[in-house]
Parts: sequence; C-alpha cells; structure tokens
Amino acid sequence: MTALLEVSGLEATYGASQALFGVNLRVDAGEVVALMGRNGMGKTTTVKCLCRMMPASGVLQFDGQDLSRLPSHRAARLGIGLVPEGRRCFRDLTVEENLTAAARPGAWDVATVGQLFPRLAERRTQRAASLSGGEQQMLAIGRALMTNPRLLILDEATEGLAPIVRQEIWAAIARLKRDTGLAILIIDKTLSELRQISDRGVILTRGRSVWEGPFDALSPDLAHRHLGV
Ligand code: ATP
Repeated sequence: MTALLEVSGLEATYGASQALFGVNLRVDAGEVVALMGRNGMGKTTTVKCLCRMMPASGVLQFDGQDLSRLPSHRAARLGIGLVPEGRRCFRDLTVEENLTAAARPGAWDVATVGQLFPRLAERRTQRAASLSGGEQQMLAIGRALMTNPRLLILDEATEGLAPIVRQEIWAAIARLKRDTGLAILIIDKTLSELRQISDRGVILTRGRSVWEGPFDALSPDLAHRHLGV
C-alpha cells in the first residue's frame, strides 16, 4: 500500500544549528499516528518541514508526490491541513469569517464544522478574539478542516486548556477518526489519550526517530526512557 505520508531521513537546520538528524515517519490513509518526544526533540520542526514552512532534506512524500520542493500553499492544496501550535486564527474576524477564509471545496463547510463543534455554530457571528481558549482551539481545528485535507496535523491541540475542554477536543478528534476516517498526525503531551486514539506512535529524541510501533509495544521502560513518563 502507498503511504499517504512518507518521511525518511529527514534533516533540517535553523541557521547553523541542526534540529533534525533523521526522522522517519509514515502515515497511511485512515490512520492516526502520534508523534511523541520530550520538549525540544523536534516534533514541531518536523511538522514545519511537512508543511513546507522550512527547508529540509531527505525523503518527503505525500500520496506518492515529492513534497520537498513545494511552497507551503501547494502542500496545503495537496491536502495537508495544519492545526498549528498556539491555535492561531484571525482575532478581528468573526468565527464564520475565519472559517470561510480557509475554505476549499469538499465535505467540510461552515455547517459541518458547526456540527462537529456546536459551540462554534452558536458563536458564528462573534469575533474570534472574544472566544475562550478552548473555543479558539475548536476554531483552529475547524479552519484546518475547512481546507478539506486528506491529512490533518494537530500540534499540541489540547495544550493549556481546562480538563473539561480538553475532553471536548479529544471527543471531537475521536469522532473525526470514527466517522470520517481522516488520516491524522497528532502531537500531544497526554500519553493516556494518545494511546486511546492512535493506531501507532513514533518517538523522537534529539531530532531522530528512535521508536515506532503500536502502543501495546510501548513498554513502561521505553516510555520512561524516551518520554520521561
Ligand atoms: P516542544 O514540545 O517544546 O514544542 P518540539 O519537540 O516540538 O518541542 P522543536 O520545537 O521542534 O521541538 O525544537 C527542536 C530543536 O530546534 C530544539 O533544540 C529547539 O531549541 C530548536 N529550535 C526550535 N525552533 C527554533 C528556532 N526558531 N530557531 C532556532 N532553533 C529552534
């Protein structure tokens, strides 16, 4: 089977400082894969390379096409939807304007995003700046879905949110997996939630992939050694 996303030997630098030394990662259609590692190990840098927000070397393929030389808007057009760390949205635009600004044709539109996140439907005409942190995160996910991606990348989508709001976000991701079969690459600090939702995990340590496999194979010893939990 052709992988939807295939990354191998990925290397990247910030100026003179090398951050990635060999990341290998594969996501098949319909799969949820967790990208894990302690702080500063290269998860967000990997995501930036996938979304073509920084140069990288190595194999970087999406649906069999070479991504490595594409500008970021072309990567988005191929079907990579990013929910960036820090839940960025246009603060002065309304919820609906934020969503429509990201729209590309497909099953996801303002109505279907509103079904996934009823709170966004209720706040359709409110400015994004007036939303709570959790609602802004829902809006960031909604914006990525509006691009009708084939791969959704979630970078720390539950960070800094109250437990009850985190549960809402996890429930929405579980619904996406169950109802749409969307391929998802997910970065998060909560191992227990990742374990429940992901088909496989990949661990990065100092810019390298050091472990890959199903969560059942992630022993407490490995989790302690590579994730500090
Ligand atoms: P976190 O969980 O803290 O977000 P991470 O695994 O996503 O961590 P990255 O943000 O990818 O880690 O960082 C990988 C390495 O690259 C770190 O050593 C970090 O200091 C470095 N780095 C990240 N962003 C920059 C930057 N803009 N300029 C220089 N170095 C950077």
